[in-house]
Amino acid sequence: MIEVFDLHKHFGGFHAVDGASLKIEEGSITGLIGPNGAGKTTLFNVIAGNLKPTSGRVELAGEDVTGLPPHELFHRGLLRTFQIAHEFSSMTVRENLMMVPSGQSGETLWNAWFAPARIREEEAALGKKADEVLEFLTIDHLTHERAGNLSGGQKKLLELGRTMMVDARIVFLDEVGAGVNRTLLNTIGDAILRLNKERGYTFCMIEHDMDFIGRLCDPVIVMAEGRVLTEGSIAEVKSNEQVIEAYLGT
Ligand code: ADP
Repeated sequence: MIEVFDLHKHFGGFHAVDGASLKIEEGSITGLIGPNGAGKTTLFNVIAGNLKPTSGRVELAGEDVTGLPPHELFHRGLLRTFQIAHEFSSMTVRENLMMVPSGQSGETLWNAWFAPARIREEEAALGKKADEVLEFLTIDHLTHERAGNLSGGQKKLLELGRTMMVDARIVFLDEVGAGVNRTLLNTIGDAILRLNKERGYTFCMIEHDMDFIGRLCDPVIVMAEGRVLTEGSIAEVKSNEQVIEAYLGT
């Protein structure tokens, strides 16, 4: 689904990503781990179009997408979850979901004047989809709650839900488990597994919680010093000498 070739991202003289090459197989839940400063977030930012690489190539399903902006990647089904922006915190959970899809007819004045029926139809379809997403994620009881009132874990579920409003193929998750209680972490884990198995989503996730990674991810890619150190099952990478050394060295 994704292939990264010899990617470099330099900040001045500092090589945050220093020749990383990796593959994310279609249908996998790939974990990305490594000590702090290994370049994981920078790599994510380059793949998801938030940063331009210094050099190297990123392919999505065999097509060169290097340096494309996030909205172009979004249209190709590559999504990255983002924290709910402050402006949306007073909107309800359902309204937040309905904000996601772009290209709705209601966006132009022309359509607002001449095609109100079509707008109503589209809104109804979006609302129905939002309700399905909320049910799928088992947070339908939060439908009319303001997003700003959600707990950290509930917000993560909403962020995941936003990817379900469009036809995502691959979703990048950045520390979805950080600061989330065990119960909600299990709910989030279940949702990721079901999206993977039932909807065919491919995931790539940066995560620090090894239990969470062990439950969800295969394979796990380990980064250190801007490069890929090794790749394998969680058991394989955990017992790899080089990986242990990389973690101990920080
Ligand atoms: P990780 O996510 O693995 O902890 P990061 O990708 O966040 O690693 O960071 C890798 C290195 O690049 C770090 O040493 C960090 O300080 C540096 N870095 C990240 N972003 C910038 C930036 N915008 N300018 C300068 N250095 C940066």
